[in-house]
Amino acid sequence: MVAYTEVSTENLSDLYDVILDKVSHAQYIAIDCEFTGHLRDLITNMEHRYDGMAQVVRSHTILSVGLTTITADRKFDNFEFLLNNQTPYQSNAANLKFLAENGFDFNRHYSVGIPFRPGPFSATSQATAAVKSNGSSNTLNKNKNTLKGKLAAHQRQKLIAEKQERQIRELWFDIFNLLRTKNIPLIVHNGLLDLMYIYQCFITSLPAKLSGFVADMVEAFPGGIYDTKYIANHVSYEQTTFLAYLYHKYSRTGFKVQVQQALVPTRNSHDSTTDDNIRSNKRQRTDTSDDNKKVKVDVCNSFAARGWCADGQACERSHDINRILDRDQKVDTITMKSPTPSTTTIPTTPSEQGQQSASSLPQKSNSGPKKEHSSHYDAYMTGYTFCYMTTQYQGDALQNEMNKLNIMKLDVPLRITKSNYAKPTLQWNMAQQHLQNRLKR
Ligand SMILES: [Zn+2]
Repeated sequence: MVAYTEVSTENLSDLYDVILDKVSHAQYIAIDCEFTGHLRDLITNMEHRYDGMAQVVRSHTILSVGLTTITADRKFDNFEFLLNNQTPYQSNAANLKFLAENGFDFNRHYSVGIPFRPGPFSATSQATAAVKSNGSSNTLNKNKNTLKGKLAAHQRQKLIAEKQERQIRELWFDIFNLLRTKNIPLIVHNGLLDLMYIYQCFITSLPAKLSGFVADMVEAFPGGIYDTKYIANHVSYEQTTFLAYLYHKYSRTGFKVQVQQALVPTRNSHDSTTDDNIRSNKRQRTDTSDDNKKVKVDVCNSFAARGWCADGQACERSHDINRILDRDQKVDTITMKSPTPSTTTIPTTPSEQGQQSASSLPQKSNSGPKKEHSSHYDAYMTGYTFCYMTTQYQGDALQNEMNKLNIMKLDVPLRITKSNYAKPTLQWNMAQQHLQNRLKR
């Protein structure tokens, strides 16, 4: 696993300025979200697909956001925001199962996830309303001391929660302001849905129409957006483009980045590290026996192509990315006859990877199932993949791919560019006012 800092109710205030400092020194920011629902039908008409996706985003929620800050000299800081939506939302059983199988800690999410409310930001209304209603109930229960005490405690809790609700929205406004004023590009992998969730949760309500969303995104992220899945498909012409596959493929070339240690080794991050160690030890043991069995079975073709398989962990075939890469790279050497050095690289062993960079690369990337879909890990892999890509293309080659988002099953990207017929939406203009007000402070 890779070092990261968890951001929760326990440390949000302490980390606020630290996170902004990391963002302000970044050349790139990579993000990834974990959410409770996505659009199942890949409608070919893009307007209609946006409508369907927007409906899902409005009725479901993000549970966590991974954010990786990347400096010009490739220092990576990984953050994972645990986010606890305070409004009613739907969850898709398959999404939750996927998260659970990938080690998402729902207990931790509900106990220390930062409360937030998606949609338009309102700095005062909620807090004021809460104080008023609690004030009147206090007068009603004047004589009952214990009840009064309980109510006071309850009110305190409520005010703390509301302060945090405000704080998380303000933190994201401040992050967006840094991206805007410093023209820092945002890196995503197959990121349209992630960006829609980010918009709905931290900017304002999603626009009714795709054209409005695009016009708003142009203004919201003037530093530009890169989608590594689009680049892998249309620039690198990779046969397989799911994130973990690209990450492991590029890792085999020996490309290095420096992952920084977690920022605040709090009691809880120690606990989770210990937890992880225990879990990974257990896993290593089962993995070994699993691997022994799996040597005889083939890799799962469905997983090998898409990074996803309907059977999940129950699948009888191997989902081990390094086995898939071994297979694919051998195929490459046979079919291509004159392999490039990168396709003949001997697979790195965990110990070799450990030597690559003391504080950085994940140490167990050669073993079987693990938390490869945590938002911090996906954000990290996205950033790593993009940085590798920047070493492969000179000059404007990548610059030309800015603001083109991958659209599943469609050959054309969604372009985040200004158009003559679509104007930014009213709700964006109001959100922009909040952004500008925070700049004036
Ligand atoms: Zn499978």
